[in-house]
Amino acid sequence: MHHDDNLTADRSTFVSHLECSMTGERYAADQLHGLSRAGRPLLVRYDLERVKDALTPEILADRPADLWKYRELLPVRHSANIVSLGESATPIMPLLREPGNVWVKDEGRLPTGSFKARGLVMAIAMAKELGVTTIAMPTNGNAGAAAAAYAARAGIEAVIFCPDDTPEINVREIAAQGARVYRVNGLIDDCGKLVGAGKEKRGWFDLSTLKEPYRIEGKKTMGLELAEQFGWALPDAIFYPTGGGTGLIGMWKAFDEMEALGWIGSKRPRMYAVQAEGCAPIVRAFEAGERHAVRWEDAHTVAAGIRVPQAVGDFLILDAVRASGGKALAVSDAALVQAVEDAGKKDGLLLCPEGGATLAAYRDALAAGLVDAEEKVVLFNCATGLKYPLADRSAFLDRHAPVDWDAL
Ligand SMILES: *Cc1c(COP(=O)(O)O)cnc(C)c1O
Repeated sequence: MHHDDNLTADRSTFVSHLECSMTGERYAADQLHGLSRAGRPLLVRYDLERVKDALTPEILADRPADLWKYRELLPVRHSANIVSLGESATPIMPLLREPGNVWVKDEGRLPTGSFKARGLVMAIAMAKELGVTTIAMPTNGNAGAAAAAYAARAGIEAVIFCPDDTPEINVREIAAQGARVYRVNGLIDDCGKLVGAGKEKRGWFDLSTLKEPYRIEGKKTMGLELAEQFGWALPDAIFYPTGGGTGLIGMWKAFDEMEALGWIGSKRPRMYAVQAEGCAPIVRAFEAGERHAVRWEDAHTVAAGIRVPQAVGDFLILDAVRASGGKALAVSDAALVQAVEDAGKKDGLLLCPEGGATLAAYRDALAAGLVDAEEKVVLFNCATGLKYPLADRSAFLDRHAPVDWDAL
C-alpha cells in the first residue's frame, strides 16, 4: 500500500490490506469488496506495529467513551465519512440475584436500541467512503433498523427485506428511518437471496452479515470496550447469542489485535455460542466436530435475532469457540423467556429474548460445572427489552368504586 502524506492529517487509521478468512488471500484496501473469491468473509488487517506507537491505553483513557475512540483500529480513512448517532460505551452490570459472578453488557443502550448499531455504523461509513449510493440487506429486524438509520444519516438509499413475521416494531422502525422495507414469506436466508438477485439487477451494494468486511470491525469494538472497562483484563467466560456470529468473530479478532499491541496477554475468555433449540446449526456442528454447519430446516424461536439457519462465517465461529475452550449451547424458548422474566423482576434489567438466552445458557453451564461460581462471566444483552412485545400483567382499578386497600 502506498502512503499518501497529504492525507496523513485526516488519516486516523492504519489499515494495510484485507484478507480472506479462509485462504489468507490478500486484497487491496480502499476498494469496494464483498466476499472473497472463495466466497468467504474478508477480514481487515492493520499495521499493528505502527498502531502500537500511535495508540496506548493511556491515550484511550483520555478520550470520550464511545466507539470512535478506537479509530486507529477501525477502517474509516477520512473523519468526514464518519456517520454517528452517538455510539456511547455500554455499561456492564452485575446480576445481583443470580448465583456466581455474572455480569451483563447491556448493548440495548446503543442507537436504534441494539448492538447492530456497532456493525452498521462502520459498514455505512465505509460504504459512504467507497462511493456506494444504495445498500440492500436481509434482516430479522435490528440490523435493518440500524442500517436504515445510518443510511438515512449518510444520505444513502436503503432497501431492506425481512421475514414476514419479523417483530412489528422493527419493521415499522426501519420504514420510519427512511428505508424501503419488504416483508418476505420466508426466512432470513431467503431474504438474502433476494438481495443477491437485486445486487445483479439493480446494482445494490449487499450489506448482509459478513458479506462485506466492515461490520466485523464495528462489532470488534465490543471486545476492545470490554477489555478497557475491566482494566485490560478479560473475563473468564463470555456468553454470546449467536446468529450470524459477527460479534463473537469480531471480539475474537479484537483479542488478537490487543495481544499484538501488548495491551492484554494470551489468556482468552472461554467463548460460549448460545443458540435456541429451534435453530441451532452451530451447536449441531460443534457437537459433530464439524468445521461447517449445515442449514437448519424449519427454524423457529421467539428470539428472532438468533433465528439464522445458516451462517457464512460458521467456521470462524466454530474455530473461535473451540480455540477458546468454550462450547456451543442451545436453550429452549421456555428457558430464555423465564430468564428474561427473572432478570426484569429480580434485577431490574429488561433483557431482549436473545439476552435471556445467554442467561438461560449461563444457568445451565453453572449447573453442569462448565463455569464455576468464582469465575467472572459476561453475558451479552444485544438489544433493549423495550423493542419486544411485553406481557400485560396489570390489573384494572376503578377509582370510583370502593378500594380494597388490603388487597393492593
Ligand atoms: C443480530 C442479533 C443477534 C445475533 O448477533 P450476531 O452477531 O449476528 O450473531 C443477537 N441478538 C440480537 C438482539 C440481535 O439483533
